[in-house]
Amino acid sequence: MGKWALNRCECGHSFGTMGNSSMSCSRCGSSKSRIVKNFDDAQSLSDAVSMSNMPKEIAEDIGEKLSSYNRRPQKATSSHSNASKLIRAMRDATGDDGQLTLKSLSVVLDRMEISETSAEKLIGQAEFEGKLLREGPDSWSWLQQSS
Ligand SMILES: [Zn+2]
Repeated sequence: MGKWALNRCECGHSFGTMGNSSMSCSRCGSSKSRIVKNFDDAQSLSDAVSMSNMPKEIAEDIGEKLSSYNRRPQKATSSHSNASKLIRAMRDATGDDGQLTLKSLSVVLDRMEISETSAEKLIGQAEFEGKLLREGPDSWSWLQQSS
């Protein structure tokens, strides 16, 4: 049994208590509350209290926001490193003559085990962004050398 407890009052209000502190409700003052759950630390208890007192829809909404917030930084980091990985792949695939071909890019993508995009898509995107200029049916050259 942890020393921090989440109490639920008959009025529906939830509040936290510590150790032997008074169990009367912090909203209506009633002592007819019961311990719902025990916690080992104050932070977990305080989280549980605020979640309990939140209307269900809001709690779910916030839970969703929190989880997408937690996901986001990771996602951003990996897509950022992906972008530079893809640029590197395209640089690698560029021959000494400065020409990039679908075939050379496919080979590099394969070698780098990049499967989330294709050489066609990558070149199409780079062309659209003005990084590449089409030189022939299957050859592109770099328009700008800075990434
Ligand atoms: Zn109460």
